[in-house]
Amino acid sequence: MNGAGDSDEAAYRATLVKRILIGGLVIGTALIVPTLLIAFRAGDLPIVFFDSSIYLAFVAIAALRNLSPRLLTVSLVGLGGILGTFLVFHYKVGGVGDAWMLTAAILATLFFGGTGGITACLIMALVYGGRLLAGSLGLLAWHPDTAAYALHALNVVGLSALSCFAIARLFEWFRISMQRQGSLSRQLRYRQLELEQADQERTLAEKRAEYLESHDRLTRLPNRHSFLKELERALAASERRGKILAVMALGLDRFRRITEVRGSAAGDVIATEAAARLSRSFRLDDVVGRVGDDTFLIFFPDIQDQDDISTIIQKGRRAFDRSFPASGVDLAVSASFGMALYPNDGRKAEDLIRAAESALHIAKDDGAGSCRFFDADLYSRLLDRLSIEHEIGEGVRQGAFEPWYQPKVDCLGRIVGVEALARWNLSGGGLRLPADFIDIAERTGRIMELGKMVLHKACLRAVGWGKAGLPPIPVSVNLSPIQFRSDDLVREIREVILETGLEPSRLDLELTESGLMGDEHDTIEKLAELKAIGIHVSIDDFGTGYSSFAMLKDFPVDTVKLPKSFVEPLPGDIRASMVAEAVIDLAHNLHFSVVAEGVETYDQFSWLDRARCDHYQGYLFSPPVSPREFERVLARGLPAIVQ
Ligand code: C2E
Ligand code: CA
Repeated sequence: MNGAGDSDEAAYRATLVKRILIGGLVIGTALIVPTLLIAFRAGDLPIVFFDSSIYLAFVAIAALRNLSPRLLTVSLVGLGGILGTFLVFHYKVGGVGDAWMLTAAILATLFFGGTGGITACLIMALVYGGRLLAGSLGLLAWHPDTAAYALHALNVVGLSALSCFAIARLFEWFRISMQRQGSLSRQLRYRQLELEQADQERTLAEKRAEYLESHDRLTRLPNRHSFLKELERALAASERRGKILAVMALGLDRFRRITEVRGSAAGDVIATEAAARLSRSFRLDDVVGRVGDDTFLIFFPDIQDQDDISTIIQKGRRAFDRSFPASGVDLAVSASFGMALYPNDGRKAEDLIRAAESALHIAKDDGAGSCRFFDADLYSRLLDRLSIEHEIGEGVRQGAFEPWYQPKVDCLGRIVGVEALARWNLSGGGLRLPADFIDIAERTGRIMELGKMVLHKACLRAVGWGKAGLPPIPVSVNLSPIQFRSDDLVREIREVILETGLEPSRLDLELTESGLMGDEHDTIEKLAELKAIGIHVSIDDFGTGYSSFAMLKDFPVDTVKLPKSFVEPLPGDIRASMVAEAVIDLAHNLHFSVVAEGVETYDQFSWLDRARCDHYQGYLFSPPVSPREFERVLARGLPAIVQ
């Protein structure tokens, strides 16, 4: 049994006893006057006295308001019992007395259960026994027929016991069902509470999920999705009020490099600090969001004029004036900016964000700390570049890069070598030229695979020419500075040579000046290793970079390529002629051979020939041609050089 069931039951009993009291009072008040009158007329003074005493006692009990239900019950049972006992003794046979005795027993059962009922019935039996005894001892005027009276008493007590038993059982059943109901309702309440709790938890979880979905976890700033929503709302307001709105895309410069060197934790610290500084820098109605590891978007809903735009860019810059303390050091971090304006650069939130981000992309190309405004032409070029960036990986996987071949000739027009120049075979037919993809490949890191593919294919071709009985000319392959700086360069070249079976002396690697710059020691070491294998090395576009002849003399290279830009103004431009002549002479003095690039006219050729240039390359002899075409050219030679 549990507390809640008990208190329910006790409350029920208390109510019940009060109702019985009220009922008893009403019935007693209604009956007392006729009862007294009848008894008085009959001269039955004990009844008059007793009934009125019991009635008064009853009223007194009812008047005692603070009586506990238990005491009230005892009083009622007691009154019933006393009245019953009196009546049993007073009358010759049972009747009213029996009824009161029975009533008292039932009341006792109701409030004190089976034990109360049994006790009451025993007391009844004693009362009847006492009555019989009193009669037989002559203490009372009337002595009943013992057997008949005993039978009567047994019947009354038996009936009372039966009634009490029935009531006790009924009450027990009632109590159990009350308990059950109580436990059911408790379970129900529990369940309800559980449901309410689950509901609250779900709402909380939903709110949390919603927050996480709409905010950047690290900086707690709106993420792209919620920034877009906020921008949409702000644009609607700008449209109504005819205002200009600016969207700024802000990119942390060299962020990836910082995280590579200092670790991602340092990157997180910088991003968090940048977020805090930006949030502080701008007005409350300017919204800052983080949309990438190193990219923030900010919109400014109320732009009045050009000055406002300068101010916000200045504010953005100022946020990066101070260094960022990360991983125990103070790091200088700068930011680049891309700006787009509503309504000029777009009317929709997505378009404005795209415009600001593409402006940022281009600003980043300009160098750290740059700022660009959206420009539709630049944007379309950016889109081309992005699609190439996207396709280049697939191109590498499919082996779509293949070199074309441009011959190098001597002064008699005989083919003495060939340069392999990468071409991208597009899946829909057609070719893409290196200007469209080499720098992208370098930027995206694809140049390593692409370069290796071209090198491999060029070496295989060169081996094929020898096997086909064609002149075993050397093949020149361009190497990107990124490839040259790779620690694996020499190993990879060795591998290609082994795999293709090309004679190392037939391989010439063309390296740009910028590729050789930087770590001079490493450059010399690598060049020496390549030379040790037997490979030739040429410096491409010599004189267009920053290298000097002083440096050149230390590099173990074989050939210098006179760039097209030097050849183009020949022979008319006296200054250009002097420069070209000086370069050729000096290269010869250092025992390098000279290949002139971009020779397009006979005059250029004959001038270079007079300047004792060693070899020539250019449209005058042949443009780069497909491998099959080059085999034909190699087989029958080039047509004679004509003026
Ligand atoms: P580059 O090494 O200076 O190659 C010479 C470029 O000049 C080639 O352009 C060639 O087609 C072009 N050319 C040759 N003769 C003439 C001429 O008489 N007149 C004119 N106007 N142009 C001439 P291409 O094939 O478009 O290659 C451009 C650049 O792309 C190359 O310049 C080279 O730096 C780079 N490149 C090409 N293939 C590869 C490669 O496999 N790997 C790497 N890293 N770079 C490559
Ligand atoms: Ca070249």
